[in-house]
Amino acid sequence: MNGPPPIRPHVSATSARGFAHVDTWIFDLDNTLYPHEARVWPQVDERITLYIADLFGLDGLSARALQKYFYHRYGTTLRALIEEYGIDPYDFLDFAHDIDHSDIALNTALGEAIERLPGRRLILTNGSRKHAENVARKIGILDHFEDVFDIVASDFVPKPERRAYERFLERHGVDPERSAMFEDIAKNLVVPHDLGMTTILIIPKTIDPFRESFEQEAVEAPHIDHITNELSSFLRDRVGPAKGIDIGADAPSDPESGQADTGS
Ligand SMILES: [Mg+2]
Repeated sequence: MNGPPPIRPHVSATSARGFAHVDTWIFDLDNTLYPHEARVWPQVDERITLYIADLFGLDGLSARALQKYFYHRYGTTLRALIEEYGIDPYDFLDFAHDIDHSDIALNTALGEAIERLPGRRLILTNGSRKHAENVARKIGILDHFEDVFDIVASDFVPKPERRAYERFLERHGVDPERSAMFEDIAKNLVVPHDLGMTTILIIPKTIDPFRESFEQEAVEAPHIDHITNELSSFLRDRVGPAKGIDIGADAPSDPESGQADTGS
C-alpha cells in the first residue's frame, strides 16, 4: 500500500509570497485541478504511447522508452514529434486526448473556491483547449475561468520554457507580479516565480503510480512559496482570509471536502 506523502495539507516557505496583491489566478490543468484518481493522465499517456508505436512501427515497450526519452529531452513528446518528424500537431492532440472522462468527479467545493477568487482566472496547460474544456466541464469548474491558454496558443512551446509563459502573459495582458500560479510539477514553477508570481505546488495525497517520483514530490525550493495536497481548502482557508473575504468563522477545514476522488 502506498501511504500518503509525509506532509501536512498546507505548507508555506518562511519567505513565501502572499496573496493580498494578487488579481490574476493561473491554474495548470492536469493533476492540478483534479487528482490522479480521476485517471485522466494515465489514459493520455497511454494514447501517446500508442501514437508513437503506430508512427514508428514499434512494440509497446519500445514506444514507451522512446516516449520517455522525448519527454526528458524535449519537455513534451509533441514537441519532439513536431521538431524532429514534422507530424501534424492537431492530429496528435486529437488522438492523445480521445479518452474516457467517466472517472472525473464533479467537485463543487473546488468550484465554489475558484468562483470566490477575486479577479481573473485562467488555465495554462501543455494540453489542448478541447481537453482542458472537456475536463474542466466534467469537474464543474469551466464556467469559472475566463479562458484557456493551451499548447496551440503557445505555438507548441511547452512549460517550463520561459517563452511559453511570456506568450501567455502577453496574450492575456497579465502582470506576473500580481499573479499566483498553481501547478503540480515543481519545475514548471521556476519561471513563474522568477517573473514575480506567487507559486503554489499541488502534490498528490497518495503516490500516483503512473507518474515519476520527481513529478509529485513535496519539493522545498526557493521557487515554491506554498505546497498543498488539498487545493479546495487551500483556496478557501489561505487565500480567502488574506483578501478579507468572509468565509464564515466556523467554515470547516475538511481535508476531504475538495477531493474529486470517486472513492472507487
Ligand atoms: Mg499538471
